[in-house]
Amino acid sequence: MIGIIFGPPGSGKGTQAAKIEQDFRLKHLSTGDILRHEVVAGTPIGQEAGRIMAAGDLVPDQLIVDIVRSRLPEAEAGDGVLLDGFPRTLRQARALDAMLSDEGHNVDLVLALDVPEEVLIDRLLHRAQIEGRADDTREAITERMHEYHKLTEAVLDHYQRRRVRVERVDGLGSPDAVFERIRRAIGISSR
Ligand code: ADP
Repeated sequence: MIGIIFGPPGSGKGTQAAKIEQDFRLKHLSTGDILRHEVVAGTPIGQEAGRIMAAGDLVPDQLIVDIVRSRLPEAEAGDGVLLDGFPRTLRQARALDAMLSDEGHNVDLVLALDVPEEVLIDRLLHRAQIEGRADDTREAITERMHEYHKLTEAVLDHYQRRRVRVERVDGLGSPDAVFERIRRAIGISSR
């Protein structure tokens, strides 16, 4: 099973992905988490990505595709993979489809979290006070929303056109309430 959790910044992808990983035994692969680790470790990738991320821009497609290519086989070795934060552009989606089809696989499910923009901005500003993430400043948030509308939304169209199962889930409410909706959308009760 290859799933994608999809949604704008602040929609709760990371929170829900962690719950899905636990309950559905899918390996959670978050490109944002991977990049943040690279930044902390001060690797060459981290040095290249750090400034771009802090400004709220997307890192180059090639860099992120290479990261996913190197991690996907290990993640796929288990029951399945849940991609979080990837693909974020059409080029990334096409690269992913090609990687998977080389192994006779394809994207099985896209879970798209719906949250109104004013709620997203409130959540991100609130998180800024708690976690102090470098890209949760007002300027970077505005830029991330802009990138999402300009480049990332097209990824959802891409999978809809390719007749991949897309489940839209209302992302408002507590993490547990949203997770319950996801569980119903996936259509299998866990355990
Ligand atoms: P959010 O969805 O809240 O913006 P993420 O943790 O998914 O958070 O991503 C944080 C940042 O990492 C992005 O703004 C971008 O700079 C970089 N990033 C993560 N994934 C990708 C990707 N697939 N392509 C390009 N940049 C990415």
